[in-house]
Amino acid sequence: MHTIIEPFRIKSVEPIYFTTRQERIQILKQAHYNPFLIKAKDVVIDLLTDSGTSAMSSEQWAGIMRGDESYAGSDSFFRFQHVVNDITGMPFVIPTHQGRASEKIIFTILGGRGNYVLSNTLFDTTRANVEFSEATGVDLLCEAGRDPALEAPFKGNMDTEALLSFIEEKGAAAISMVMLTLTNNSGGGQPVSMANIREVSSICKQYGVLLFIDACRFAENAYFIKLREAGYETKSVIEIAKEIFSYADGCTMSAKKDAFANIGGFIAVRDEQLTEKCRNLLVITEGFPTYGGLAGRDLEAIAIGLREVMNEDYLKYRIRSIQYIGEKLDVYNIPYIKPTGGHAVYLDAKRFMDHIPVHEYPGLALCSALYVEGGIRGVEIGSVMFGKRAEDGSLISPPMELVRLAIPRRVYTQSHMDYVTEVVAEVYKQRRRYLGYRITHEPPFLRHFTARFEPV
Ligand SMILES: *Cc1c(COP(=O)(O)O)cnc(C)c1O
Repeated sequence: MHTIIEPFRIKSVEPIYFTTRQERIQILKQAHYNPFLIKAKDVVIDLLTDSGTSAMSSEQWAGIMRGDESYAGSDSFFRFQHVVNDITGMPFVIPTHQGRASEKIIFTILGGRGNYVLSNTLFDTTRANVEFSEATGVDLLCEAGRDPALEAPFKGNMDTEALLSFIEEKGAAAISMVMLTLTNNSGGGQPVSMANIREVSSICKQYGVLLFIDACRFAENAYFIKLREAGYETKSVIEIAKEIFSYADGCTMSAKKDAFANIGGFIAVRDEQLTEKCRNLLVITEGFPTYGGLAGRDLEAIAIGLREVMNEDYLKYRIRSIQYIGEKLDVYNIPYIKPTGGHAVYLDAKRFMDHIPVHEYPGLALCSALYVEGGIRGVEIGSVMFGKRAEDGSLISPPMELVRLAIPRRVYTQSHMDYVTEVVAEVYKQRRRYLGYRITHEPPFLRHFTARFEPV
């Protein structure tokens, strides 16, 4: 079999600026050892996020020129709406400026004190919006999903027994909705099976609970179903996607992920009354219903991107390119969450940097090492991001200390990824040379964005 190649040619390029190891030591110090405070120009390979970092296609750029910037009733809106209608089967489509704006609107309407939002795993902005509405978010991830070393096909699945007993215990009236995150971002980009979606849907129907899909990576999830679930081998990704959405009452989406757009999002729903309520909020916070916080050109780019992402040559390359990184790491027995997911590789920093105690942030130490040795920027997902303080000021750690290397769509080539794995392997070989960190400055909310550190 031949190498699975990038299914695109490059028409326009951006330079990468190189720095020396000595320069990077200085840059990191000036950034107070927080990767979010490093200037993008000072990064060689930027794996901070796959959000809004995709390379758009020539068709999307052509769409940018075609964008109709009319305030009301723009042609671009109708093209966008048509595509979303077609994929989701949902008649009402509400554009927003990004995923969290969709979440803010939905949970302002459906959240609220005393209510619960149940999920396989709520993404952090989703959870923040649920909690901001004073509802409670509850993650009911299947058991396999909680074991980082276990190889299983659908580690993003919801625990349906836990779902049933939760609804029985609290009563269906207290459940705002069930939201399935596809793929499960916080859980390593792990997919959810069609069988699980179907079962969750039938429980929701039985109790009259709404089912929403956080559709940010619906195409990557659909492709995993095609690869891994019996009965879907010969179905097309669009057919699989349509089936996924057929089980849901609505969805929220960030177009910065599986729509190859640099900004944008939407809500799609079946219910007309809910649409009314969403649009009432939309005009206050986002904009008129036919643009919702976006320019006409953005709506065009999203409409085109949503079609492109379902191209199976693209998805084959996409999923394979992430798996490829995993295989290279396996050569050195480097610990990461298995199997690799759809959009990122999650290094297991607790095992990688097993000489650094959790309260000295092994994930941050790994991020720093990757930056110093190779100019690679990843993000810590562990005690810096999710750690809480006990009454006595001591750290309460989350269960895992991870470093996420998120792969932007259509941006880097195989040789970039070879370079990344070489640097990770080098850092792994000399891992005992790296020290832990302490916090010197800590903001009250979302501290990982602006906190400052120093080596211990
Ligand atoms: C990125 C993301 C969001 C939020 O979208 P933004 O466009 O960043 O506001 C919500 N859910 C998931 C699963 C995501 O990955």
